[in-house]
This record gives sequence, structure tokens and C-alpha cells, in this order.
Amino acid sequence: MRLVLLGPPGAGKGTQAEALAGHFGVPHISSGELLRRHVASGTTLGREVTGYLDRGELAPDDLVMAVVDEALAGAASGYILDGFPRTLSQAEKAEARRGGAFADAVVFLDVANGVARRRMAQRLAGRSDDRDRGVIDRRLRTFHEETDPVVHYYRDRGMLVTVDAAQPPEAVTAAILAALAGRRPG
Ligand code: ADP
Repeated sequence: MRLVLLGPPGAGKGTQAEALAGHFGVPHISSGELLRRHVASGTTLGREVTGYLDRGELAPDDLVMAVVDEALAGAASGYILDGFPRTLSQAEKAEARRGGAFADAVVFLDVANGVARRRMAQRLAGRSDDRDRGVIDRRLRTFHEETDPVVHYYRDRGMLVTVDAAQPPEAVTAAILAALAGRRPG
């Protein structure tokens, strides 16, 4: 199973990705987490992306593609990919590189900005980019400007499953699994 999760910050991508990874027995790959790990271990790439993460801006495509490509190459049985692609250009590059074998389905976790904001404020992980109102607002704005077109792209291709992500986490997982089962008989 190769699933891509799309949704604004605070939609619950990480939580749902963990649950789906457990369900399907495939790894959860989070582009944000991969980048944060580079930052924490002080790699060259980490030093290059740290400012983008702090400001809530998208990191440059080539750097993100490098870490995501490496992680996908090691996930032969499939993956739950969270946080990538975030732009049309990333989606097109990923499709081109993986010869159409990039995603079986794309799940859109749909949630209003107000709910997403509240969740980020309550997040326990203590991420520095969740602490600043301006950074949160920039991430939400960037989602609507850059990632909404990715949602439309997959909707147009009949690959999109949209789920109401304002529900409690278990209900969201159940809704995703039901929608996927409906799409993929057997
Ligand atoms: P969230 O969706 O809550 O903002 P993520 O962990 O997915 O959290 O992303 C955190 C940050 O990592 C983003 O604000 C951005 O700076 C960077 N990032 C993650 N994925 C990508 C990507 N696909 N393209 C560009 N930047 C990314």
C-alpha cells in the first residue's frame, strides 16, 4: 500500500499516518520529521533547511526531494507518506521519478483553519514552529496557496479520498479505511 496524506498543519496527518502504518504494516514516512532529524543532527542539509522550518516556509524542492527519495527507495513494501508532496512541482517530480508507482491513493484530511490552529496550540510534541502565531498562520496560508492545487490535481485524477478530519482521531482512521475499502474492492 502506497498512501499519501494531504492536509493543513494541524489536520492530524502524523496521527493518522501512524495508525495507517500500523494497519497496513508499512512505514510512516514524514517529510517534516526527516527534515527535523537532519536539523537535530546538524547535517549540511539540516543547516540548509533550518531557517525554512523556523519561518514556516517550504524548504527548497531539491533538498526535500533528496530526503524523501531516499526514504521511499528503502520502503519496498509500501509507505504512508505524510507532508509530501506539498506543491504541484513536487507531485509531478515524484510521479515522474517513480513511473506512476508513487501513490495508490491520496487521502485529504479536510479541516477548517480554526480547528487546525487550536490543535497546533495544544500539541504536546513541543515543536518550535507550533509556538509562534505568525509561523502557524504562514504554514496555513502556504498550505492553501501551494497544496490546495495538489488536492485538486489528485481529485481530477480520481485518486483522492476526502475525509472530515475534525472528527476524533479514531473516527477519522475508520473513515479513511472505509473510504479506501470502497475504492479498492478486495
Ligand atoms: P505541518 O504539516 O504541521 O506543518 P510537517 O512536519 O509536515 O508539519 O512540516 C514542517 C515543516 O517542514 C514545514 O513547515 C516545511 O518548512 C518543511 N517541509 C515538510 N515537508 C515539506 C515539503 N514537502 N516541501 C517543503 N517543505 C517541507
